[in-house]
Amino acid sequence: MGPSTANAAARRAAAVSGTSWSGIGGCLARQSISPSAVRRRGSRLPAAPNSSLAAPSRPAGAGARRLFSSTSPARADFTHVVIGGGVVGLATARALQAQSSTASSTGSSTLLLERHLQVGTETSSRNSEVIHAGLYYGAQSLKTELCITGKEMLYDFCARHNVAHRRVGKWIVGQTAAQREEMQKVYDHNAAHTGVPLRWVSEAEARGLEPDVRAESGVLESPTTGIVDSHGLMVALQGLFEDAGGVTSVGSRVVDVEALRGDSSSNLPGSGGFRVTVEDVSTGEQSSISAETVVNCAGLGAAEVHNMLMAHAHPPGTPQHEDSKMRLYYAKGNYFSYGASSPKASRLIYPAPTPGLGGLGTHLTLDIGGRIRFGPDVEWVDTPDDLSVNTSRFPEMLAAIREYMPGVEEKALSPDYAGIRPKLRYKSSVSDGKGFLDFHIRKEDGFEGWVNLLGIESPGLTSSLAIGEKVRRLLY
Ligand SMILES: Cc1cc2nc3c(=O)[nH]c(=O)nc-3n(C[C@H](O)[C@H](O)[C@H](O)COP(=O)(O)OP(=O)(O)OC[C@H]3O[C@@H](n4cnc5c(N)ncnc54)[C@H](O)[C@@H]3O)c2cc1C
Repeated sequence: MGPSTANAAARRAAAVSGTSWSGIGGCLARQSISPSAVRRRGSRLPAAPNSSLAAPSRPAGAGARRLFSSTSPARADFTHVVIGGGVVGLATARALQAQSSTASSTGSSTLLLERHLQVGTETSSRNSEVIHAGLYYGAQSLKTELCITGKEMLYDFCARHNVAHRRVGKWIVGQTAAQREEMQKVYDHNAAHTGVPLRWVSEAEARGLEPDVRAESGVLESPTTGIVDSHGLMVALQGLFEDAGGVTSVGSRVVDVEALRGDSSSNLPGSGGFRVTVEDVSTGEQSSISAETVVNCAGLGAAEVHNMLMAHAHPPGTPQHEDSKMRLYYAKGNYFSYGASSPKASRLIYPAPTPGLGGLGTHLTLDIGGRIRFGPDVEWVDTPDDLSVNTSRFPEMLAAIREYMPGVEEKALSPDYAGIRPKLRYKSSVSDGKGFLDFHIRKEDGFEGWVNLLGIESPGLTSSLAIGEKVRRLLY
């Protein structure tokens, strides 16, 4: 195994930067922010780097009224605040801003807050970049619905906005009778519930197409699976969001969120909007802004953001305090890049799913340039802080890879990057069946204008555009 190369995730994330304005914190340092000042400063942002980006088209339902009541819309600094500049926050902010700029109420606005100095440096740039077909999740689950819809939206978006992608297809390969049974379950589940196309590949055809791949008990092909350049996707989303008048503020860590009561008939928390306190990560200064609605897209930090709000609604010492809190569990996935020209594959190769596993098994993925990488494994960790590749996992991963690619050269594998899945339960499973957990995407009961997104693990990248659209529909 070669020495660790520069972190690919960081390199890829760096490419996402360039359109963000860093420094709302400086602006927010004054106790009461002038939203027009933010807009002015935001408007100095450079144009979208991809000059071929078209303006977002008028969304269905544009002109509709928001589905929450607020007694002080005219006084809020922003119509929508989206916390978290990963792919899901970007897609959500873009959907809300597109709605805002076409809705009947003029002057509505969306602010995207990101704690790092660039968007997209956490999970959204540390994944397999696979456009999933939607094969594995519960029949009635949000994951199935949003993955299948999101996949189509993503292929369409990438084609329209010149985001690199390839409908490369995927094989699920089995070596044992038990694995063949698991593959049959995947086939039957999709035939019965999703309609996602799958095809059994004959032994002879498999040998002809992928001579380096071992598949003793069968090959199941998913032709609609693909790959996407995740940083290109985020650049495009951010460009569209900002071109429509949205403001991205990087280096802005949300440290408190309070739901305010208005004097509307509901008088629920949030009916008077929200106070969002932001820390400028460069100076440590804090200031507050007001928003009519808040969407929590904070990924690995989403439970923490949820708990900020709940600490006001159910303060320590009240009966609901502990129950109202949420926590996340962390399943790290390590990747190794492959530097040799053989053995090779021209499509994605996944092992048969293992029931109860927190991931889909160490698979072979291709990036847009055709380079092979293997991963991610599943390593349960206590905190989301350590993103270095855990090389002690290498022997186990090598054994898993050699199951389906026996000729892989050990010395051509190098530690590449790692990502961390935000899980809603310890040892929860990614596939349908025991331990399966769905995305948590909802307007929380008892609050006006608060949308919470938790546990946005795979297939969150694939689902991102559909999630953004779902949040827009929750609010309008
Ligand atoms: C190993 C691995 C492989 C995966 N493979 C795939 C795949 O092939 N296909 C697929 O569809 N999905 C995949 N996923 C899932 C996908 O990457 C995620 O679902 C998606 O990136 C989540 O995006 P996000 O915007 O919710 O989260 P993130 O990208 O984590 O963004 C959240 C943002 O919120 C910010 N934030 C947090 N707290 C605060 C705060 N207090 N104030 C301000 N900002 C804050 C963070 O800095 C971060 O930038 C994979 C995930 C992992 C870990």
